[in-house]
Amino acid sequence: MKQENWQNAQPPPGRFCAVAPFAHRIVVVTALPEKRVCAGQVQRRSSHHGMYTAGKNHLSAAPGARDPFEAIVASWNVHRREEPPISGTRGAGSIFFGYCQARCTYCQNFPLSQGGLGHRVGPERLADMMLYLQKKKCHNLDLVTPTHFVPQILAALVLACAKGLRLPIVYNCAGYETLETLKLLDGVVDIYLPDSKYSDDKNALRTSKMPHYVESNQATLREMYRQVGTLQLDEEGIARRGLLIRHLVMPEDISGTREVLRWIAEELAPDTPVSLMDQYFPAWKAVNDPVLNRRLTWTEYRAAMDALEEFDLTAGYVQEDLMELDTTSNV
Ligand code: SF4
Repeated sequence: MKQENWQNAQPPPGRFCAVAPFAHRIVVVTALPEKRVCAGQVQRRSSHHGMYTAGKNHLSAAPGARDPFEAIVASWNVHRREEPPISGTRGAGSIFFGYCQARCTYCQNFPLSQGGLGHRVGPERLADMMLYLQKKKCHNLDLVTPTHFVPQILAALVLACAKGLRLPIVYNCAGYETLETLKLLDGVVDIYLPDSKYSDDKNALRTSKMPHYVESNQATLREMYRQVGTLQLDEEGIARRGLLIRHLVMPEDISGTREVLRWIAEELAPDTPVSLMDQYFPAWKAVNDPVLNRRLTWTEYRAAMDALEEFDLTAGYVQEDLMELDTTSNV
């Protein structure tokens, strides 16, 4: 696989697939009638979700929110450090939500994900943020850790679509969603950008406080793939629809990288692009963790890249930060 550092790279045209066979579908995704349909689905699904969650009290249980229609937004701006098909040349329009369904001990965004840092916003304000990002010419609307605020996001999308939101919607998450939640997003989300973090439940529980992660993650990825299929790029190499999976390689193979990749290649779809990340560093509680209190080594990351090749996962991205340092000792 060609080495790629996405933090500097320009989107490679047609890297994942030939654009031509998908051209008609790309037009459909971005055409106004389709988005009107999308808005209708949002409306219908939003009210359905209201009923659904009423019984389970999910809305009132939204962490940090004062009323059921509030979401917590930590930041909303142009983001240029996502993978090339997401950030492209004009950036992703990222909205970072406060809190997360995981509690990773190493989270680099822990003030947001676990401290709930952010502003309480209702659907009108959230819709305005979405439209602001469209006005900034972002390639897409990149919803980051959105899962616990799905009803609030859907309500905002109804308003934003009615006011002209036409951006593809990226759902950037931990890959730990319920099928009920994903069904609400069917036909609304254009691009799924989930993690596949672990292949071992014990490590997932110890490190990220996510019970039964492996089974849940695999069911999540299957449903996402069913909804949007293989990643499709436009003529400029920008994602229009599909699934792109992230995997963070961790020290001492806590992430179980080879098995994660094997499952994707052999049991999900071998043409699924994987973004193999080397950026682990010990943040927050990981500083005091005897296993996680160091960065990855180049040797560990190289083994992960070998697994990509072993399973012929040739569409996707790797990073080259560690390769540039090229050390076989801890860095
Ligand atoms: S899933 Fe991501 S954002 Fe959420 S706690 Fe883990 S590292 Fe942080």
